[in-house]
Amino acid sequence: KEELNIIQGALELRTKTVEDVLTPLSDCYMVSSDATLDFCTMSDVMQSGFTRIPVFENERSNIVDILFVKDLAFVDPDDCTPLKTITQFYKHPMHCVFNDTKLDVMLEEFKRGKSHLAVVQRVNSEGEGDPFYEVMGIVTLEDVIEEIIKSE
Ligand code: ATP
Ligand code: ATP
Repeated sequence: KEELNIIQGALELRTKTVEDVLTPLSDCYMVSSDATLDFCTMSDVMQSGFTRIPVFENERSNIVDILFVKDLAFVDPDDCTPLKTITQFYKHPMHCVFNDTKLDVMLEEFKRGKSHLAVVQRVNSEGEGDPFYEVMGIVTLEDVIEEIIKSE
């Protein structure tokens, strides 16, 4: 039955979208772009347990960078290095996708690309004003794999 579940999960990749499996913005562990890499911030980042951490500017919906925990390997907390120094040095490309991206397409992109995390956006046309791009959350390779192997 486990095999059937996996086959079922794999078939559903064609119909399910990243919106179905994303981690909502409100649950994302993120850091502010004007943070200082002092002892406090660095231990907080380490304790979060996440490998990739979105960096936001001013508001959480405005993700401007991705910090990899391994980027911190040469950072001395006593130096109180601005986070910007690190993100500008590594300049990891940010991968954005739309909310209606199918999981099979997402899986191919993750396999092809370097990053295993993407920022999920949608077009918000609900309000009075012009439609705008709105960040909904993040999706990682793990979220897609989970969808294949989950047993119901
Ligand atoms: P890795 O397993 O490659 O070390 P990780 O444990 O940091 O990375 P993933 O395994 O890619 O993260 O993802 C595990 C789950 O955590 C997924 O549901 C993903 O959406 C979520 N996730 C990843 N990064 C964050 C983050 N910064 N804040 C909140 N949730 C996250
Ligand atoms: P992440 O993507 O979470 O930052 P990573 O890039 O270090 O982690 P993985 O993505 O888990 O590593 O693995 C990528 C490939 O590199 C896999 O084929 C894995 O077997 C291989 N790999 C991982 N660590 C090592 C290592 N220390 N030496 C040789 N190959 C490795």
